[in-house]
Amino acid sequence: MGQPRTYRIGDISITPLLDGDLDASLDKVPDPVDRAAAAQLIAAAGGDKALTMDCHAFLLHLPDGPVLIDAGTGVMMHERLGHLHARLAETGVRHEDIRSILLTHAHKDHFGGLVDAQGAAMFPNAEIVMHEVEARFWLDTDPDAMPTRARDALPLAHKALGPYRDRIRRVPEGGGMKGVAARLAPGHTPGHTAWVIETGATPIVAWGDVVHVAALHLVRPETTMVYDLDPPTATATRKAMLQWMADSGAVVAGAHLAAPGIGYIQRVEEHYVFEALS
Ligand SMILES: [Zn+2]
Repeated sequence: MGQPRTYRIGDISITPLLDGDLDASLDKVPDPVDRAAAAQLIAAAGGDKALTMDCHAFLLHLPDGPVLIDAGTGVMMHERLGHLHARLAETGVRHEDIRSILLTHAHKDHFGGLVDAQGAAMFPNAEIVMHEVEARFWLDTDPDAMPTRARDALPLAHKALGPYRDRIRRVPEGGGMKGVAARLAPGHTPGHTAWVIETGATPIVAWGDVVHVAALHLVRPETTMVYDLDPPTATATRKAMLQWMADSGAVVAGAHLAAPGIGYIQRVEEHYVFEALS
């Protein structure tokens, strides 16, 4: 794996950090009609390897210092993942240099790298910035009122966020920091967030998990997988975000898009394609 590459978009530099990859499977598509359609799309896209998702975080080089969008898996998943810390070191940016970590949402493949194997904070000087809707859901909701899938994920959320409890900054819609604004993109989680980054040219939209498996979701955005807590809302968000990206020409930075995870979405007839930056 080569040194992470930095892309210049307008006034902003952004470095995708590949944490590793993970496998989805068709049994994660609960609806039988969707699953049959998905099986055809995956076969047409080359078979099982089309179900493997890259897992990215993104390093933003902002005028006031480096900022991360998401933090990789750390030691919370399997050995093909957890490489964010090595990738970060290769950029020359130290963990103590990171001043803010913007979370797209509170799932283990996005926050696991916040802590080490002992549960201690990896980023001594960083604040965690979350959309207030996402923070409220994971940190304030009575577990008994949560969907089972979210309740089961709660211990890891507490493990990752607990050491940062005094430095979690909750932001409203449009909040964030100079040049970076939170935009709710709900459905995958209630407060799932796209971070919209001003560049002086076309914006960069770090959209988290709007798309999991490109071979399915770019062709058939209504395909829902069990990862989405609220499937109808996730579908509506996915359709709206894809159309927005295609219409605006914004640069998308997608957690699970194929490496380098950054590029453009184009509409081609009735579906979309991802064209990675070269
Ligand atoms: Zn994810």
